[in-house]
Amino acid sequence: MARILALHTHDVRFPTSQTLDGSDAMNPDPDYSASYVRVLTDADDGLSGHGFVFTIGRGNDVQVAALRALESHLVGRDVDATLDDLGGVWRELVHDSQLRWLGPEKGVMHMAVGAVINALWDLRAKREGKPLWQVLAAMSPEQLVDLVDFRYLTDALTREEALELLRAAEPGRARRQRSLLAEGYPAYTTTPGWLGYDDEKLARLCREAVADGFTQIKLKVGADLDDDLRRLRIARDTCGPGIRIAVDANQRWDVDEAVRWVTELKPFDLAWIEEPTSPDDVLAHAAIARAVAPVPVASGEHIANRVVFKQFLQADALSVLQLDATRVAGVNENIAILLLAAKFGVPVCPHAGGVGLCEAVQHLAMFDYVAVSGSTQGRMIEFVDHLHEHFLSPVVVRDGRYRAPTTPGAGTEMYAASLREYAHD
Ligand SMILES: [Mg+2]
Repeated sequence: MARILALHTHDVRFPTSQTLDGSDAMNPDPDYSASYVRVLTDADDGLSGHGFVFTIGRGNDVQVAALRALESHLVGRDVDATLDDLGGVWRELVHDSQLRWLGPEKGVMHMAVGAVINALWDLRAKREGKPLWQVLAAMSPEQLVDLVDFRYLTDALTREEALELLRAAEPGRARRQRSLLAEGYPAYTTTPGWLGYDDEKLARLCREAVADGFTQIKLKVGADLDDDLRRLRIARDTCGPGIRIAVDANQRWDVDEAVRWVTELKPFDLAWIEEPTSPDDVLAHAAIARAVAPVPVASGEHIANRVVFKQFLQADALSVLQLDATRVAGVNENIAILLLAAKFGVPVCPHAGGVGLCEAVQHLAMFDYVAVSGSTQGRMIEFVDHLHEHFLSPVVVRDGRYRAPTTPGAGTEMYAASLREYAHD
């Protein structure tokens, strides 16, 4: 019987603030970082599970400490039994009666659980010899709902309703899997839009995005209205009317300011306004959504858990749901969020970029297409062209689409050399 031996952790930081990659109205100088965890076992296969939390620099050590706090839950466990019951493991970690005081179910401790859960899924997918999206897409509706904790969700989504949704999507699974392997999944790009880039770089990157086959780009806004108007004009003139342009304020505004600002930007035909205000403020998002309609409101990269997502959906506070692979407690909680989105008929356009977020989240979007929503209508995965070279199976984006990954695992494994070279001490 194989057992889990240890969790090895790494504080990995990339000096991205030197080039202002990733700069926006609230985060002017991010150093893209990963609190990285490896789950090691004594199994003969030599496989290990890899997961991480994305952070933007300072505090990455705090996140690593939270990962370490989970080690005692895992060391010594039977590998097969653990990987066969990831729903049970999720509940045990999330509901640890002492650790949950630090949340509950939000922030550093919750994200640490997410990284460990994702590492376990990576290990399971490697052992099955399949990419994660195919592992999930091969599970029965009953197995999938067993992964989800319906506590606090049942006023919006019961286990039985989730089963019905999944059963309704079963007949088309094989066809959609073939279409993913042949055609990939739609992407949009944020590469042109960072706030720290000058106008010339913005125009050049817009031209490149269109030439690369993207049909949507995204610009950061919210620091200065005149700058936003000028940059949107450059982007719209460069891209032409056929390209969708989304804007992202990264939580910069209060309600009145958001409404005034978005109203000024409306003539540029916005695909959505993302994170106009605090990610905790459901009612503010709902008020903004009503006031700026028909411009859709998007949010999710900072929404703490499935319970807050539920409220956003119940309150009509978002119409584009942007789940994130490392913000919540991993694959299991994201399945809950995909089911909620399907119940409310809201498209999911996952947040990505950062370090490894594209590699991780593509599996969730593809699983959603095959086995949950069954649709790519109005759905796209964010793409940013940074730091992919550090991953063993980097995303492949061609003609504006993510190609379906076929390498076994969850896409989350970084090269040992990168972990060493960018180790923070
Ligand atoms: Mg964003």
